[in-house]
Amino acid sequence: MTRVWSETLYDAYGQHFNTDKILFESKTEHQHLLIFQNARFGRVMALDGVVQTTERDEFIYHEMLAHVPILAHGNARRVLIVGGGDGGMLREVCRHRSVESVTQVEIDQAVIDMALRYLPQHSAGAYDDPRAHIVIGDGIDFVRQTDLRFDVIISDSTDPVGPGEVLFSDSFYANAKRCLNPGGVLVTQNGVAFMQLDEARETAAKLSRLFQDWHFYSAAVPTYVGGVMAFAWASDNPELRRQPLTMIEQRFAAAAIKTRYYNPAIHQAAFALPQYLLDALAEETGK
Ligand code: SAM
Repeated sequence: MTRVWSETLYDAYGQHFNTDKILFESKTEHQHLLIFQNARFGRVMALDGVVQTTERDEFIYHEMLAHVPILAHGNARRVLIVGGGDGGMLREVCRHRSVESVTQVEIDQAVIDMALRYLPQHSAGAYDDPRAHIVIGDGIDFVRQTDLRFDVIISDSTDPVGPGEVLFSDSFYANAKRCLNPGGVLVTQNGVAFMQLDEARETAAKLSRLFQDWHFYSAAVPTYVGGVMAFAWASDNPELRRQPLTMIEQRFAAAAIKTRYYNPAIHQAAFALPQYLLDALAEETGK
């Protein structure tokens, strides 16, 4: 009898997976961690009942949340990842030879340990990259206390429930801004806009009070169900998200990175948002 696992992110709607094999399940110090095998998506990691990443579609999310800000910035040397315990974001950031240092602040060592054991292709050796500096701690504390500065900050967190909730707060965004070098950019996973529209509104309201320029960009990630995933964007350099396609193409060619989802045309198009989202953001921020 095949067991079925149902995601519990939303009331009255959700996705389910046949769990061909439970590989790991435990209550860690911070959250419930489950890793199971599924015939269609490979190995799947869920935290507190919410799909975090799957072997089959992780590349879409990790490529878009890493390469869009780094290639838009054009000279990103120091990168901060908040969360990202599965290691996929670290892998994609480390593919940029121009990046000199990547600091990753992850609250749950168990996520890193179990991802290394059961999802090794996510990090694909990136945790051994000499440029990678792993900090086990709460991301909100790190950005509040660190004297380090970064060109790109990527919040690769869980949803705003449980330990991830603080990473959607005014305090986190204000201290992330404090940690950015001039011309830097903050990007965050901000949920599926159609299903979590209030989260996009709340993030826009907070970012618009702190940064000269804010927006969202998107990508369709199959196991983040309900529509396209929204990535929040915030910078005091309004030009960063308006780079001409030719410049992104030149930078992408120079980076010499083979991707499976990201390309310069997708980069540019990702900032075009559906009207219902634009209307909700304008209503929330007056812009
Ligand atoms: N791709 C996923 C998504 O979009 O929901 C995120 C994947 S990654 C596994 C999320 C990571 O955020 C987890 O490893 C979790 O432990 C970490 N995390 C949650 N709250 C955190 C916090 N306050 N500080 C640092 N890491 C946190």
